[in-house]
Amino acid sequence: MNKFLVVINAGSSSIKFAIYRLDSSSQLIVDANGQIDGIGNQPNFTVTNQQGVVLVDNMLPSNEAADHKATISIIYAWLLEYIAEGELLAVGHRVVHGGQHYAEPVLIDTKVLNDLEKLIPLAPLHQPHNLAAIRALQEIMPTLPQVACFDTAFHCTQSEVTKRFALPRHFFDEGIRRYGFHGLSYEYITSVLPTLDPTLERARIIVAHLGNGASLCAIHKGRSVATTMGFSPLDGLVMGTRCGTIDPAVLLYLMDHHGMDARALEHLLYYESGLLGVSGISNDMRALVASDDPYAKEAIELFVYRIGREIGSLVAALGGLDALIFTGGIGEHSNEIRANICQQSMWLGIKLNKQANENSSKLISTPHSTISTWVIRTDENLVIAKHLLNIYTKETELKN
Ligand code: ADP
Repeated sequence: MNKFLVVINAGSSSIKFAIYRLDSSSQLIVDANGQIDGIGNQPNFTVTNQQGVVLVDNMLPSNEAADHKATISIIYAWLLEYIAEGELLAVGHRVVHGGQHYAEPVLIDTKVLNDLEKLIPLAPLHQPHNLAAIRALQEIMPTLPQVACFDTAFHCTQSEVTKRFALPRHFFDEGIRRYGFHGLSYEYITSVLPTLDPTLERARIIVAHLGNGASLCAIHKGRSVATTMGFSPLDGLVMGTRCGTIDPAVLLYLMDHHGMDARALEHLLYYESGLLGVSGISNDMRALVASDDPYAKEAIELFVYRIGREIGSLVAALGGLDALIFTGGIGEHSNEIRANICQQSMWLGIKLNKQANENSSKLISTPHSTISTWVIRTDENLVIAKHLLNIYTKETELKN
């Protein structure tokens, strides 16, 4: 009988999932990927198997996937039919926030769920959707083991001084501190370092995860030392629609002189800023690279400039640099942006191999480069699936 594990990534308007099959030696094999997007609006259900065959491509009536609960029910019913005689062993979830205490993936029970709900104020735009999917699945299938894997967990190794804002101490104790995000992506990249070059395992590395959300992480000996996102995924770099680092006095000004309250500021900073805000054209890097509009060029220039500045800051935190790794949609696919970033960081001794960069080869620096530079496709789902399998196996051994 085939055995399956499923990874779920529940966002505000979409639920994505990846199905893994265990082969006879309990290795994880990707079987299919799917999603329902447009939840509550114009839901669309798509699934593609590993061979690229489209298994499902259906517009759903809007009342059918009206919320996360209904959407999970649709996905679960389809899954049961899809795996037929097979067995669904467990489900793993990407959960944005594990707070101060969840430094490892965890099997979800009532206490864990209650703890994670208390973190909603720290990640109000993400955590409620992650948890809604968990709760919905618990209602449908209370005995199905579910595991939470956190985007913050990888950064728990950072020192207290790295995490602290210069605010009165009691705010830190309340949880107002730097957490960092994209941790599952950084964990994946760290896990493949030995396959790239064995010396990287103990090296000083900056990983640039450049997607719609974007951050940099300084990693030494496989551990997060510092990262550009902080209390929230707003901080740090210029992103698709998020502003990145901003002088807090700008927010005070906007409150005083534009009458903006917390919700209006939240919308401005999360959804109207970044590449979209500066270009006035798009949050999609492909559209900006293709555009002749001077504002598109300015948006790209700012994106690259901020990355260059933050690379400098992380090099200082690391006390040097041995390797730079690009990942995420932009990092993996845009040779132009990579070239611009490397140009900006040439002072570090980066020498780009032009041809390798244009081909998006794995190693894109020349042999004379002081800093080896790489392009690695990230795989957050695989990280979750591996944790899920470990926890599931341990739990089953304990029961037997
Ligand atoms: P998310 O953070 O939503 O997971 P992705 O990692 O998928 O995002 O990255 C999305 C970004 O990657 C978009 O800005 C998109 O324009 C960009 N991107 C994808 N392919 C290319 C490309 N060939 N050139 C430039 N940008 C690209």
